[in-house]
Amino acid sequence: MSPIKKYFHDIWLGLYTIYIGMKITFAHLFTKAVTIQYPDERLQLPERERNRLFVNMDDCIGCDQCARACPVNCIHLDTLKAVPGDIVGRTGVTSNGKKKALFVPTFTIDIGKCCYCQLCVFPCPTECIYMTDVFEFSEYKRENLIYEFTDMTTEQTAEKKAKLEVYTKEQDEKKAAAAKAAAEKKAADAKAGAAPKTAVPPKAPSAVTKAPAAVVEETLKDPKAPASVTKGAKISPVEHEAPKVDIDDKKKEEPNGSKQDNGS
Ligand code: SF4
Ligand code: SF4
Repeated sequence: MSPIKKYFHDIWLGLYTIYIGMKITFAHLFTKAVTIQYPDERLQLPERERNRLFVNMDDCIGCDQCARACPVNCIHLDTLKAVPGDIVGRTGVTSNGKKKALFVPTFTIDIGKCCYCQLCVFPCPTECIYMTDVFEFSEYKRENLIYEFTDMTTEQTAEKKAKLEVYTKEQDEKKAAAAKAAAEKKAADAKAGAAPKTAVPPKAPSAVTKAPAAVVEETLKDPKAPASVTKGAKISPVEHEAPKVDIDDKKKEEPNGSKQDNGS
């Protein structure tokens, strides 16, 4: 292509590309706009969007399940046991009727660490931790991204702590006293149980079985001896027969049953 011809070709090409571009631009003048005038205009967020978390402390029971479920450990909470007679929160119960037994003096979420996985939301028994539609919370300092949700003041926390300490001390003392009383009772019972045992005389039957021959001999000498005594003793036929003669002789000699000296 000659230089003159190339010159005019380039001019034509430039005008043609301008025409193509302007054609597209003019075509968009008559189509519906897809952009919005943010922040004056906002898009409708999807139903299950994950944004900044919020905790409704009126319903939080301090069970710690959200903190345990968090994979990046960005939730931290402290709890204090409520002493009998203390009401946790405004009513002492959650909106679904669960009794609140713990004060929550600290409940922080480091949203700068949060990965918006929503794993903390599902295990919550009172559904008080949830994702909101707030996604504009940029900060210049990272510390400002640590959110504190508790509604307890420092003074309230100190008061509840002191109450709990007193109550715990009282309970410990009561437990110690009860344990001491139980130990004393046990010792007294053991002492009372041991005394009669030592006073019980040795059992008669065992003495009888230990010396059967002597008992039999005695029994055979005295025909009035109770039958139960002779029953348990083992007697050989020879032993049993020999004294029988003596008994008969004795009976003949002592017809009235009284013992008399025959001079033998
Ligand atoms: S959304 Fe995930 S990362 Fe964020 S606080 Fe909950 S569990 Fe932790
Ligand atoms: S799981 Fe729910 S009720 Fe339990 S500590 Fe977390 S926010 Fe509170």
